[in-house]
Amino acid sequence: MHSFRYQGGSLHCEDTNLESLAREHGTPLYVYSKATILDHYRRLAAGMSELDCLICFATKANSNIAVLNLLAEEGAGFDIVSAGELFRVEKAGGDPGKCTFAGVAKTRKEIEYALDRGIFSFNAESEAEVRHINEIAGEKGVKAPIAFRVNPNVDAKTHAKITTGKSGNKFGVDFDLVRDAYARAAELPNIEVRGLQMHIGSQLTTVNPFVEAVEKVGPLVEELKSNYGIEFFSIGGGIGIVYEDSLDSGDLDWWSQGQNRALTIEQYSEKLVPLLKPLGLKIILEPGRYMVGNAGVLLTEVVYEKQGTTKTFKIIDAGMNDLIRPTLYEGHHDIVPVKEPSGTKTEIVDIVGPVCESGDFFAQNRELPSVDEGDLIAVLSAGAYGFVMASNYNSRPFPAEILIDGETAHVIRARQSFDDLIAGETIPA
Ligand SMILES: *Cc1c(COP(=O)(O)O)cnc(C)c1O
Repeated sequence: MHSFRYQGGSLHCEDTNLESLAREHGTPLYVYSKATILDHYRRLAAGMSELDCLICFATKANSNIAVLNLLAEEGAGFDIVSAGELFRVEKAGGDPGKCTFAGVAKTRKEIEYALDRGIFSFNAESEAEVRHINEIAGEKGVKAPIAFRVNPNVDAKTHAKITTGKSGNKFGVDFDLVRDAYARAAELPNIEVRGLQMHIGSQLTTVNPFVEAVEKVGPLVEELKSNYGIEFFSIGGGIGIVYEDSLDSGDLDWWSQGQNRALTIEQYSEKLVPLLKPLGLKIILEPGRYMVGNAGVLLTEVVYEKQGTTKTFKIIDAGMNDLIRPTLYEGHHDIVPVKEPSGTKTEIVDIVGPVCESGDFFAQNRELPSVDEGDLIAVLSAGAYGFVMASNYNSRPFPAEILIDGETAHVIRARQSFDDLIAGETIPA
């Protein structure tokens, strides 16, 4: 479900008119729907209700503390990839005892911080990391809970830059080496072996790679349970979302429309719960994109139109520094006018930003309803890996972020000022 639809000729998020919102707060502007985020969380929790399941939101997908707070209030845990994310989670009211810490390069400072805060588990990506954690835990006189991230060597069949579970990827410990890694870790005096984790990739649009990975790793999990008494098995995140024709489904329940669209929670739970339940362990899920992707849009204004000999460019006031997915992952985002198109007039256009890079585009050779200079457009499904990947490149201040709750718009991050841009910089005397 998502909460973006036309009402009275203008795109709305829940009961808020996005035309008025953009005129009030300026563009580019990120807008998130509270109802959509909560719906996604509750839908997944319901699908997994037969399991002892902890949903650890992948903080990196959208780490605004207001978004984290919504999920913390629902009882979610958090998958973090840095000490900075753990800081955010706590500021948002999240429980460090429900945090798992992923990442291939955890530093001494980060390990110390996470130990002090009492996280649920370090999901370790190498034996060297576990030796390091053991040493630091020893200095503090504590036992550190760890799991290894296993690389199951299955093909997630997603974009190369978001595939993580093949043996050629830098993530996790190779499936064939992980038993020995556990045996050595269990010998370390300051380590408590608590679980096993995997995460095979992002934006998976069928359940099959998850099934393949769980079937492959399941027997190992049972072995580790009997040898070391592990408590949990995390199957990672990666649930894919709809990026195309996402508005057409309006407020219809697209998750149950199924059929070559996104992976539905029904398909996901129907296949996975029967495989996971017999393990008799706490199951952890680490969804990021699923939770917030379709819950956000980026509003932007058409600044100029430029007719070339071969192309028509619509130049907008948002750039790749605000949303990098199109150029980084060849990510498709639907783009719609905020004012509901009255006719059927369309044009084949490139939607490009102001940044001095040819990679600064949002759509190429795309047929879109005609829009004029000064019109607002919405880049859909921008709630995950959107603002969090923004930079100040070209000295462009970060956009503001708004959380919509019905008719109420909360500014959850103020637009940066020029002074913010140079904060911390000094000219040597
Ligand atoms: C990024 C990440 C996730 C979340 O992936 P999504 O595709 O956004 O669900 C989960 N676990 C780990 C370890 C990750 O790095």
